[in-house]
Amino acid sequence: MTSGQCLCGTVRFSLEAAPRTFYRCHCSLCRRQTGVGHNLATVVKAADFHWHAGASAISTWQKATGYRNDFCGQCGATVPNPLRGEPYVWVPLGLLDGPLDAECVGDYCTDDAMPWDQQRCASHHAAAPETLDALIQALAISP
Ligand SMILES: [Zn+2]
Ligand SMILES: [Zn+2]
Repeated sequence: MTSGQCLCGTVRFSLEAAPRTFYRCHCSLCRRQTGVGHNLATVVKAADFHWHAGASAISTWQKATGYRNDFCGQCGATVPNPLRGEPYVWVPLGLLDGPLDAECVGDYCTDDAMPWDQQRCASHHAAAPETLDALIQALAISP
């Protein structure tokens, strides 16, 4: 089991298993969401994700195109985001407690990356994953 929390600790959650893989997205939305060059996140099955505290403190901002940022209403940290209509939860990796042995399996939207944001793994893509399934497959999450 792996636990995680927001900056202030109001929002707490756990995962059944430590993620082994993550991805980075370099698009302008993820850049502004995080304040750095890219997000760094993974996806877990909804059945493997548990809220422990603070779920009611979560605020949501959604762009008309569908991009959504869920964040702690107390400290503003981006928090896990259940994918609407899909049995998965998006998890920002930096919220997890303790060391994690995980590997980057994809960089996305590299065409949108800032010139000062150079980090890439072996699998990098000019655009976003075509579908959620493509991302799930890249992350090697067993169904
Ligand atoms: Zn917080
Ligand atoms: Zn993005």
